[in-house]
Amino acid sequence: MPHVLEKANLTAGALLCLCAMAVLNATAQDTPRYSLREMDMHIHCGLERRLPLNQWIDLSVADGRKVLFCLDHIELYDRTPKEYGEWAREEGVQQWYPMGREGHRAFIADIGTLAAARKDLLIFKGWEVAEFDLDDGVNYEPLKDAQIIGWHISSTHEGDEPNGALLIRRIKQVIEAQNKLDVPMILFHPFPARLGRMEKLAKKAGRTRESLTVDELRFFKPGQQEEVIRLLKDKSIYIEMGSGTEGYWDTPNTREALIADIKPLADGGVKFTVSTDAHTPDTFKKPIHPEVYCEPCGITAENANAIIRDLLTRQKKLSAPLLYRD
Ligand SMILES: [Zn+2]
Ligand SMILES: [Zn+2]
Repeated sequence: MPHVLEKANLTAGALLCLCAMAVLNATAQDTPRYSLREMDMHIHCGLERRLPLNQWIDLSVADGRKVLFCLDHIELYDRTPKEYGEWAREEGVQQWYPMGREGHRAFIADIGTLAAARKDLLIFKGWEVAEFDLDDGVNYEPLKDAQIIGWHISSTHEGDEPNGALLIRRIKQVIEAQNKLDVPMILFHPFPARLGRMEKLAKKAGRTRESLTVDELRFFKPGQQEEVIRLLKDKSIYIEMGSGTEGYWDTPNTREALIADIKPLADGGVKFTVSTDAHTPDTFKKPIHPEVYCEPCGITAENANAIIRDLLTRQKKLSAPLLYRD
């Protein structure tokens, strides 16, 4: 009775379709959406920690954080035991992890345990890596355990201060790095890195921050923002909008430069992350107000949630966990 079968197939097909739609709807509704101040996609939880991990995290949870990207500077593990001992004494920190690969593994394992235990939080683990490694050669081996990699854009460049040309070069290198290691990547603090450097140079020349013109402060030259938007379209690469921006918000010229540099990117679809880059108890305890500088720059909660959606989608696809390719 072919037509009965056909009908049965159609019904099954329709049911499948309805189920798929239900799953899609459920996924959209179930994806949590966090406010700007509930997210911190850059906090230092490794060797510079002053407290056991749970207590350390609770300093920022007390100010409302619900999603955390817990990381450490990977190069801190490169020292000899003697250098490490001296550094820990100077910093007044415990030697939480050994040096080298053993230390990398122990730190990542600790964050994994924390993430599993803290059902009240959404926790991701990974590393902050110096941008200069993109020129000198990235050691991918320890990065394979990371869920996110953040690239530290330095304020101390020889010669030029951080600018649009540097960011475009780094984005191209990060796209290459993602061909090796398929995890979300963030370009950390490019804008405050430039403003900090500009302020230092001004001071040396006997000028105040207020005397710098918006033109001098601007990160991008004409055409560069369009290039950044084009390069980052549909990529799992994000730019950080951290609390470091706050210190430049009350000066009209730096604020104007930040808005002119960032808003066209956000309006053009570039995705940002919000964070504190907290290292010390004081920075962990300090209340944050990212909406103050994010909203005028066009960075909405929706925009800043893109990385969370990206990460959760990847977690659902764990049946294909091959993140690293030689
Ligand atoms: Zn950094
Ligand atoms: Zn950092």
